[in-house]
Amino acid sequence: MKTLHWIKKDVLLKNYNTFRINGKTKYFAKISSKDKLIKTLHWAKKNSLPIFILGNGSNILFSDKRYQGIVIKIENNKIKKINKKTIVVGAGMMLMELLQKFLNKGFEGLEWANGIPATVGGAVFCNAGGFGYDFGKFVKKVRTIDLTICKERIYSQKDCKFQYRGSIFKKKKEIIWEVELFIKKGDKAKIRGKTKNYWQYRIKKGLFKYSSAGSIFKNVFAKNVPLKHRKGASIKQGKISTGWFIEKCNLKGKKYGGAMISAFHANVIINIKNAKAKDVLHLINICKKKVYKRFKIKLKEEIIVIDY
Ligand SMILES: Cc1cc2nc3c(=O)[nH]c(=O)nc-3n(C[C@H](O)[C@H](O)[C@H](O)COP(=O)(O)OP(=O)(O)OC[C@H]3O[C@@H](n4cnc5c(N)ncnc54)[C@H](O)[C@@H]3O)c2cc1C
Repeated sequence: MKTLHWIKKDVLLKNYNTFRINGKTKYFAKISSKDKLIKTLHWAKKNSLPIFILGNGSNILFSDKRYQGIVIKIENNKIKKINKKTIVVGAGMMLMELLQKFLNKGFEGLEWANGIPATVGGAVFCNAGGFGYDFGKFVKKVRTIDLTICKERIYSQKDCKFQYRGSIFKKKKEIIWEVELFIKKGDKAKIRGKTKNYWQYRIKKGLFKYSSAGSIFKNVFAKNVPLKHRKGASIKQGKISTGWFIEKCNLKGKKYGGAMISAFHANVIINIKNAKAKDVLHLINICKKKVYKRFKIKLKEEIIVIDY
């Protein structure tokens, strides 16, 4: 099969996911222009290949098996436009880079996101959040490209149907290409102070010392947990930390293969020594079973498990 010159064959995915799991893909392309994207989509269609869209791979568990299609890493990472009240950025821009630009220009509001290793597109797709904030609240519009017919679409914030760690894009076959975000001028010194504090908070938690995908499961809505099962749990924004339930099942520090339920946060699984996806999946299943047995709660994955 004739490939386009920017498409690589048989690529290891270890450096493209924060878990550092060594999956493999038959084809791989880093794409920063719309022209190359459209050509790649046509090529994949012509060759009947499945497509997986990748941001920074910080919420993903790749399978140990070889992906038989093409992984397209979105690297459209420039500021496109700054209007009076909004900024338009490429979906491949890293959130940390965006925060730095916000800091330089004195735009406030996104300080809480400091430390999230996401692209803007991934943050929209997953509606990344923390400390009571959601990325979706800052989104004015999203411009996408349909994977199958290459048609462009524009979504308003309402159309995106943002919810706790979710958006309409989880049900679509579309590439988030550009995102228009609300901006608001603030006090530079205050923005810098807040940004630093959030960073230090995340560092203290120990999350960056190991390879992981952040939280494995979504937190649990307190209203869904019988009173007797949530005694002693702290409730924030109506939710209980899933780590609390896993910890109560004495699973902190549990190892399987090269993976371990971290000792610093029970809702984080870390890669301690060449972990395979199957090791992580095994620990995920143990958490689910034990938490269900003790609390009758069905845990739901926050990470996206790619099984092919
Ligand atoms: C150390 C660490 C800390 C973290 N802290 C937080 C936190 O505080 N809050 C939080 O919410 N999350 C956190 N996460 C998880 C993760 O960073 C977020 O879920 C993030 O939104 C994922 O973005 P990404 O670009 O890495 O997406 P990826 O992991 O690459 O992809 C995630 C999903 O989005 C899709 N996708 C990505 N880009 C696009 C695009 N352009 N178009 C269409 N689909 C796309 C992918 O197909 C995939 O299904 C953390 C992760 C780590 C490793």
